[in-house]
Amino acid sequence: MQFKLTEEILKLSESKIWNQAKNEWTFEYAYSSEELQSCLCGHYPIKNICVLNNSENNNTTEVGNCCVNKFLGIEDGNKIFTSIKRLKEDLTKSMSSEVLEFLFSKKVVSEFEYKFYSDTIRKRKLSTKQETIRERINQKLLDFTSGEANTQFSRINLVLKWADQNTWFDTTFVKSLNESCKRKGKLTDAQKGSLEKIIFKCKIE
Ligand SMILES: [Zn+2]
Repeated sequence: MQFKLTEEILKLSESKIWNQAKNEWTFEYAYSSEELQSCLCGHYPIKNICVLNNSENNNTTEVGNCCVNKFLGIEDGNKIFTSIKRLKEDLTKSMSSEVLEFLFSKKVVSEFEYKFYSDTIRKRKLSTKQETIRERINQKLLDFTSGEANTQFSRINLVLKWADQNTWFDTTFVKSLNESCKRKGKLTDAQKGSLEKIIFKCKIE
């Protein structure tokens, strides 16, 4: 299984030497898929998926938790899934401070939300108002890491990657969709429609 992962990752990397190639990859994002999927290593089924980005050539790939820690030495995925599991069981609890940092770095939570959450992260007794805000921020993590959000992020990335080669294309609108999807965890039907129209008209695939 390890061999298969190594081989697949090398295909997508610039370096052909494993110990160098694996350092090209950084953790981008994690999500829970509604459909069961296979990992690059052949492991099936997996539901917790990590999206990795290659900093040399901008390739992306998805691997299961089985591989992300063991072979690539990337810890972030597991931490996120631990928080997701806790919040799915009880939305009044807190995500870990590392996951909060992650959401802030991705601009999913605002500066106000980040500050509020850090200040109250260890508190078990919150006022009703504080509880509402905490739950709203918790919901943002669940939305951002949902299978639906991931589908839309991959459509957006498809256009952005294509636009790297087609520099006449103005990416302002698509980038604004990306920001909106991060904040709200999904696109509206109208936004989805516009995005699909671009993909169709520019014959991207
Ligand atoms: Zn795997």
